[in-house]
Amino acid sequence: MNNVQILLRQHVGAPCEATVKAGDKVKKGTLIAAPTGLGANIFSSVYGTVTEVLDDRIVIKPDEKQKDEFVPIKEGSKLEMITSAGVVGMGGAGFPTAVKIKADLNGGYVLVNAAECEPGLKHNIIQIEENAEKTIRGLKYVMEISNAAKGVFAIKKKNEKAVSVLREAIKNESNITIHLLPDIYPMGEERAVVREVLGILLDPTQLPSAADAIVINVETLLRVAEAIEDKKPCFSKNVTVIGQLNDSNEPRVYMDVPVGTSVGDLIERAGGMREPVGEIVMGGPFTGKSTTLEDPITKTTGGIIPTIEFPDLHGANVGLLVCACGGSEDRMREICAKMNGKVVSVARCKQAAEMKNGALKCENPGNCPGQAAKCLQFKKDGAEYIIIGNCSDCSNTVMGSAPKMKLKVFHMTDHIMRTIGHPLYRRLTVSKQVDQLPNGK
Ligand code: SF4
Repeated sequence: MNNVQILLRQHVGAPCEATVKAGDKVKKGTLIAAPTGLGANIFSSVYGTVTEVLDDRIVIKPDEKQKDEFVPIKEGSKLEMITSAGVVGMGGAGFPTAVKIKADLNGGYVLVNAAECEPGLKHNIIQIEENAEKTIRGLKYVMEISNAAKGVFAIKKKNEKAVSVLREAIKNESNITIHLLPDIYPMGEERAVVREVLGILLDPTQLPSAADAIVINVETLLRVAEAIEDKKPCFSKNVTVIGQLNDSNEPRVYMDVPVGTSVGDLIERAGGMREPVGEIVMGGPFTGKSTTLEDPITKTTGGIIPTIEFPDLHGANVGLLVCACGGSEDRMREICAKMNGKVVSVARCKQAAEMKNGALKCENPGNCPGQAAKCLQFKKDGAEYIIIGNCSDCSNTVMGSAPKMKLKVFHMTDHIMRTIGHPLYRRLTVSKQVDQLPNGK
């Protein structure tokens, strides 16, 4: 087993402070870093020896023999145990769970985000199929702590098996229901879940608490139940590996991957990469980032996706249309550079509102305001191609205007969608898009 690298910041808030030093022996579940303000405890995911404590991570050399048992957290109130276990939003947000659920919803709702909106990722749905009971117990703990009267699983209708497992598992639960979501992106955005389930459209600045609700990810509920029932610290992560893999491009789901495992080790476990590879994405196709084989899995890693190569635009002029729910402008610039394009114009969807911290939030996720004006801007600025990062609805409306202006369209997820055999995010067929590439790739 190779060294594990455990990052000191795997959550919203400041980095944790290390509580171990080089040379220390640690067990699975030993506290190795603690928060100094907003944050969450961090634990060793292996038995081994600390080899380095760096500014941003702790490196541990695992023992050859690993035991299943772990150091349990201390008994306490349910909320104290969730705090001690260092549970954070495992869907990618990383907000400390104990802080989020320490609320009085006054008989409101805990909405379970089971949308698994990022194409290709499967670990949340598989968790429901295989471990619905414990997930539901996690929901009941959160409902009790936050004084919620109702729990609702928000899940896409297309996940028929998981929906039927859930239906069976909640048949005697009078206060837990299921809400079926359509298969569009983004349905997993927090305010989209509130809108779909409760019919309340929150402002981008409002939190779900404004609708007497908390939105919580499926895996987070599992970690809550583990903390309370098993006294288990949060040191592992469920991850989907999909893409350019030797055996096939089908998704593989790995439960309880030790946090700190390298991307390369996990890909090896999945059979290794099939060259040529364009990039490796950590996360989902829309919101993931490029990563390296050396980078570690964290508490918020959902997917690892080696992709096919990028098409070559041979230095052509490109406009970028940035969405609040897709990649950042920086990520889109990175993709443009990997396609050998030159950015000449950047626009944002007009529903992408900028928050005080610089983050973008959509005013009404998945409901397109029309994109013709942005396409006109790109044309005026001399773009031949545009790369869009939009939701399903907006990507389709781009196709209503861009081709008429002779702008050729790529979606930032195209290389991933082609890799995993998923339809591209726009109405044009794949073959028409391929024809548009200058080198005919
Ligand atoms: S409406 Fe605009 S900002 Fe909102 S999800 Fe769609 S493309 Fe993104």
